[in-house]
Amino acid sequence: MLANKTAAVTGSTSGIGLALARAYAAQGANVVINGFGEAEAIEKERAGIEREFGVQCRYSPADMTKPDEIAAMIADAEREFGAVDVLCNNAGIQHVSPIDEFPIEKWDAIIAINLSSSFHTIRAALPGMKRKGWGRIVNTASAHALVASPFKSAYVAAKHGIAGLTKTVALEVAQQNITVNAICPGYVWTPLVERQIPDTMKARNMTEEQVKRDVLLAAQPTKQFVTVDQVAALAVFLCSDAASAITGAILPMDGGWTAQ
Ligand code: NAD
Repeated sequence: MLANKTAAVTGSTSGIGLALARAYAAQGANVVINGFGEAEAIEKERAGIEREFGVQCRYSPADMTKPDEIAAMIADAEREFGAVDVLCNNAGIQHVSPIDEFPIEKWDAIIAINLSSSFHTIRAALPGMKRKGWGRIVNTASAHALVASPFKSAYVAAKHGIAGLTKTVALEVAQQNITVNAICPGYVWTPLVERQIPDTMKARNMTEEQVKRDVLLAAQPTKQFVTVDQVAALAVFLCSDAASAITGAILPMDGGWTAQ
């Protein structure tokens, strides 16, 4: 479906982003992966994508807090592959703390990575999409783009911001064959979620199973984690012709969380 197209996925060395990059490669797209991690592990993923799917895959180390590096990532992809047809804004971090104790540098980092980086990627990639008369922007938002939880002020603010950015850009390019949507997963089993477990076990004197059931999945009626492959399947569908009328949509995939 995406042969001769290029997909750039921010924050794709792990978790949801890696699943997105692999899913686009499986559709025949060349992909740009991005994010942090051990050089050897990243190179293994990169080479594995090329081998498994017969596409080209480049790694960009661009730091999503740095506008210059973000612009360079898009320019490099356009130079090497001719275009960025599919842009997935997925990089994200979390920090959990009451707002009056929230470290200022954590607030700044979350707003930069989870929100402003999408402004910078879209700003850089949109002219190329307009020239080609086709584009797909898929933002990984969160159930926290629709509802809040205490102690996640920066994350919730950034994700609500992504919902607003998604709708605004969708309106700006609505007649140019470019769609802009946000996927809002509930809890997905990834390293981002896994890292919260030991601290929560300690803070609440709970077992791992109790943390999963009574804390993490408390808001999720299905009591099941969303899978990275489910998120990736929706992200692929949003790039299909069948989805060309879906734009400016903030799409929950949250096991019923935001239905409550
Ligand atoms: P993850 O920790 O597995 O992956 C995050 C990715 O972002 C990694 O590749 C990491 O290297 C990259 N990253 C972090 N800081 C970066 C920076 N400054 N520059 C470039 N890359 C950077 O997390 P995940 O769970 O896969 O999360 C991916 C996205 O999905 C995030 O936007 C997150 O908010 C969102 N999300 C996750 C869940 C969940 O339950 N896991 C739920 C809803 C939304």
